[in-house]
Formats: sequence, structure tokens, C-alpha cells
Amino acid sequence: MSEHEYPTSQQSIRAEAIESLLIDKGLLTEDAVDEVIVQYNERVGPMNGAKVVARAWKDPAFKTRLLADGTSAVAEFEFSGGQVDKLVVVENTSDVHNVVVCTLCSCYPWAVLGLPPKWYKDPAYRSRIVREPRRVLEEFGVQIAAAKELCVWDSSAEIRYLVLPEPPSDSDSASEEELAARVSRDAMIGVALI
Ligand code: FE
Repeated sequence: MSEHEYPTSQQSIRAEAIESLLIDKGLLTEDAVDEVIVQYNERVGPMNGAKVVARAWKDPAFKTRLLADGTSAVAEFEFSGGQVDKLVVVENTSDVHNVVVCTLCSCYPWAVLGLPPKWYKDPAYRSRIVREPRRVLEEFGVQIAAAKELCVWDSSAEIRYLVLPEPPSDSDSASEEELAARVSRDAMIGVALI
């Protein structure tokens, strides 16, 4: 998806300048910045969402709780940090494919997916996934049958969405850990299949 990549932006140059100023003025320390980076690189990320998805595939009672109230079901995992004020989990089935966007900015379920990828914040993705979702998904390499309903969910500061992908055919015999390792970030946004 090279068209979704963009070079060092004005915003990132500005963010670096503000960071240096705050550190110079003693309002922020480099350690505090590093701690946030470690938090989102190592403790918060798509591996958390993948655990949720794998549990839902293996445990029907958990799946029912997850679809009824994503926020409280995910709280059972005690993930550290991130935003799960209101998490809504949408299930892919043989009839429906779900995909998530934030048309306004880049709202994203941090606690279960970590930081959003660059393309998620790109104005091209944010506008086109609403107008021509099938075509955008094709560019991601995902073909959705014409007979399948396609639902695009617009995230906001209040509501974050997570896609529960369709389970692989061997989900009964594979272990929860094996299954979690196969769940990609993009599948939980809805732009990839398992
Ligand atoms: Fe947003």
C-alpha cells in the first residue's frame, strides 16, 4: 500500500520540536517519553487484541460477553494502559464483513491494538474506505464476495471498534496460543483476513 505511506510530515517535525522544547524547559523528561514508547512497543499492541480474538474463538461464553459488552469482557484480561472507554466488537461472519475507520481523525482501540498504523491516519484511507470500501479492500489484497454485506464502522472519541475475524477452519483443534499468533492487527481492523 505504498500510496498510503507518506514521508516525514510537517506534523512529525513539529512534534519533535515541541518535545525538545518541553525537555529543555524541564517540563518533560526523555525518560518519560521513552517509557511511553516502551509501553506501546512492548506491553500494549495488537498481541493483546489477538488474545481477545483467540479466546472468543475458543470460548463461546466469552464470545457472547465480548459481543454484548466489549469493554467489560476485555477488562477480564487486565491489559496495561490504553483506552478502552467504550469498545464495541463487531463479528465477521459468512454474511457480513466489518471494517473500521475514523473519518474525523485517528480514533483507535489503543488498549487492544496499540498505536494506529500510518495508513489508518491517512486522509485517503479515511475518505475512500467509506465511499468505495470494496475497492480499498482489494488494494489491501482482500476480496469480499459481492453477496456479502460490508459494514464500515466510524470510530470516535467515545466508541472504538474491534473486528472479530472469522475463525480459521482448524480453530477447534488449535490451541488458544496458536490461534492468537495468527491474528494480525490488520485483520482486527478489517483490512485483512486470517
Ligand atoms: Fe479520531
